[in-house]
Amino acid sequence: MRDIVIAGGGTAGWMAAAAFARFLGGGHNVTLVESDAIGTVGVGEATIPQIQNFNNALGIDEAEFLKATQGSYKLGIEFDGWSAPGKKYIHAFGQIGRQLGFVPFHHYVLRDQQRGGARDLWSYSPTAIAAAQNRFSPVQERPGQMPSGTAWAYHFDAGLYAAFLRRYAEDKGVKRIEGKIAEAQQQEGRISALRLDDGRQVGGDFFIDCTGFAALLIGGAMESGFDDWSDLLPCNRAAAVQCEAAFVITPYTRSSARAAGWQWRIPLQHRTGNGHVYCSDFMSDDEAASILLSHLDGAAIGDPRLIKFTTGMRRDSWKSNVVALGLAAGFMEPLESTSIHLVQSAIERILQFFPGDTDAAADIEEYNRRTQAEWLAIRDFLILHYHRNGRSEAFWEAGRKTDIPKSLARRLALFESSGRIMREGDELFTEVGWLQVMTGQGVTPQSWHPMAGQISDGQLTEFLGLAAQHANAQADKMIPHNQWIEQYCKSDAGH
Ligand code: FAD
Repeated sequence: MRDIVIAGGGTAGWMAAAAFARFLGGGHNVTLVESDAIGTVGVGEATIPQIQNFNNALGIDEAEFLKATQGSYKLGIEFDGWSAPGKKYIHAFGQIGRQLGFVPFHHYVLRDQQRGGARDLWSYSPTAIAAAQNRFSPVQERPGQMPSGTAWAYHFDAGLYAAFLRRYAEDKGVKRIEGKIAEAQQQEGRISALRLDDGRQVGGDFFIDCTGFAALLIGGAMESGFDDWSDLLPCNRAAAVQCEAAFVITPYTRSSARAAGWQWRIPLQHRTGNGHVYCSDFMSDDEAASILLSHLDGAAIGDPRLIKFTTGMRRDSWKSNVVALGLAAGFMEPLESTSIHLVQSAIERILQFFPGDTDAAADIEEYNRRTQAEWLAIRDFLILHYHRNGRSEAFWEAGRKTDIPKSLARRLALFESSGRIMREGDELFTEVGWLQVMTGQGVTPQSWHPMAGQISDGQLTEFLGLAAQHANAQADKMIPHNQWIEQYCKSDAGH
């Protein structure tokens, strides 16, 4: 496995190129083929905190990365109108309160609420409080250290991120070929070379399909089937448009429910990204574009672009000597900003299972099994948002009636009966993530952990009072997000 060929140079292709250049060492040649004429999908600008692990592993400096990508910080996702029109909640990163012994913190909040306590879950989240005040920064007196209980991710310009990683990868020896792939040539069930439309051939031992929705190698040449999940997550289109940058760069992504889907808002330094994800059975493209344009908070830059998609994943994302990454591997709507993360975790998995000269059938099977488990857990999390909504439009009514997977039904039943949340294996979303979305969508437990009753009423008041004070104090250590960007990671490129 000396010659690795990456087909496609979007976010997925350049993330793979950068990681292989960093981790595979000198014995491998990495070549990336991309076509400027075809271009990239051009969206995918909100992330989750795990991206820090990827950037750190590559040795990327945070400030340099944010300057190069016109980036901003992200403390969570605000869901506006999902549980009912006019109601909001945030899925904030980081911790909420502190576990006491065996009892997770939220059971004490549930006990307090049952006796009439007025504080909600987010009163104990330093990140939710900071996001509501548009603050973000490390502790001022100790630069570099973040207030305790907080976690953060980024918003960035996807094109600039790919360009940033391209510079990184090319500096480390990755060879880039500009050209259009016409065909994947095969020998004995393996791909041996890519033929470009001008006749050039790019031979290799191991191929990474990053050709986006086209899935040229995994879907085309390898004929790996596609599991369609549209019955569970029926949105199938997005209209995307950028608008002028906002005066205040909010440190969170916003997801606003619309009549047949939802609209994202991703604030960057030089512009704001917006998109309307919807289901074409319930709304026309013209209506979706007009709703998008009527909810921008700055002048639109160009016309909305229509992107069609089918939710689902490749049955085998690794087949023979081809592995698919990014959109070629499948797609779930960006409701919880998970796609770039799925690229990152697949790259880690490829490195874990990197093939040698022996038969890799068992490794390939294990890779595919783990990949599928990761996708299915995220799928459940997304379905939850639609299944427990409080809206009256036909699209949302259909969402409530969806026949949900047993794994999600079990999780909901457990939470509703006893407030318990159990994480499965090494699934992506933590208990505190599930807790916020279930609570935010109006799922209410009937009781709480009996051991949360072991402290007295007075002790409960004191414990929760201190937790709320702590959360506020952590948020108070931060400064306005705009000010932090100005001081620390303002893009040199201007606006
Ligand atoms: P692309 O960007 O489509 O790149 C494909 C590459 O393959 C291009 O370089 C293209 O030129 C090349 N190519 C294709 N065919 C050929 C050929 N014949 N010859 C040569 N080259 C070829 N993810 C998130 O994490 N957060 C988000 O907020 C988010 N929002 C999204 C919103 C929408 C509407 C969509 C559709 C996706 C979103 N995503 C998001 C997903 C994210 O955009 C993708 O996961 C990410 O950009 C990776 O895309 P890609 O590199 O696989 O594909």
